[in-house]
Amino acid sequence: MQLENSVALVTGAASGIGETTAKTLAAKGARIALVDRDEEQIERVMQDILAAGGQCVAIAADVTSEEDTARFVARTVETFGQLNIAVSCAGIIRDGTMLNLDRETGKVSRKLSLDKWNSVIDVNLTGTFLTLRDAAEAMVNGGWDGLLVPISSVNKIGQVGQLNYSATKAALERFPKIIVGEFLLRKIRHIRCVGIAPGYTETKILTEMNQDALQAILKDVHLGRLIKPQEIADMIAYCAQNEALNATTIEITGGLCFPGNIAK
Ligand code: NAP
Repeated sequence: MQLENSVALVTGAASGIGETTAKTLAAKGARIALVDRDEEQIERVMQDILAAGGQCVAIAADVTSEEDTARFVARTVETFGQLNIAVSCAGIIRDGTMLNLDRETGKVSRKLSLDKWNSVIDVNLTGTFLTLRDAAEAMVNGGWDGLLVPISSVNKIGQVGQLNYSATKAALERFPKIIVGEFLLRKIRHIRCVGIAPGYTETKILTEMNQDALQAILKDVHLGRLIKPQEIADMIAYCAQNEALNATTIEITGGLCFPGNIAK
């Protein structure tokens, strides 16, 4: 797939991996639909891309809303006449162990709330499903070559304190196999799906993590530092250009050797 003149829709584009991916694809000649619930910040990203000579549109939307996903896909196609790449970066964490015990009594003092559970499932899993489903619908009906990119995580393996988050990322890791299998069944040959499973990457999402746990995890990273969003964005751009990559999820972890089970 040529990035020049292709059209890419990126959710979570107001920050972190989504922002850098949008800017990277724009710098390679793709026209970009920026989607995020943070209106002010996608406006900022849009101005950056325009100032660098790129083409883009900013669409404020909530990926958990079926109305919104239909709207931002339709708006992308109206604006640019096609859709080729959909990268689902919108994601959140709401960490906490399933049970917390009172130190003195040993009895359960607090449980992971349904609100924390549902919010992570809604954004990470349902939001990605809706985004990729509606993007794929447009690609099929338009007959355009396409690439769908769900963002999993190294924590798909199961991270203590992230029952909700790890559950969504484990599910997303499976999306490419299932979606491409279904495309094969339906003789849809022109759309690929490649997942990305980043390791610990320098974005604001990590500020919500327990910082002691993060420092402990970094000791197990061969690279010895956080991954840069640019390193993830470059891989996404490469995935678009290499058609042999399909129906798989690629880990970029900097060599995280012992993932999972950091007790806190
Ligand atoms: P980030 O900097 O926090 O960016 C995520 C963006 O998604 C934010 O702008 C956020 O807005 C937006 N968003 C959240 N809920 C949304 C919704 N319902 N509708 C529309 N936009 C929404 O995080 P990031 O690190 O770039 O994360 C991008 C993806 O990579 C996520 O799926 C994350 O799980 C995954 N990932 C990150 C890491 C890492 O270490 N950073 C590692 C593995 C995987 P708000 O600020 O309003 O929430």
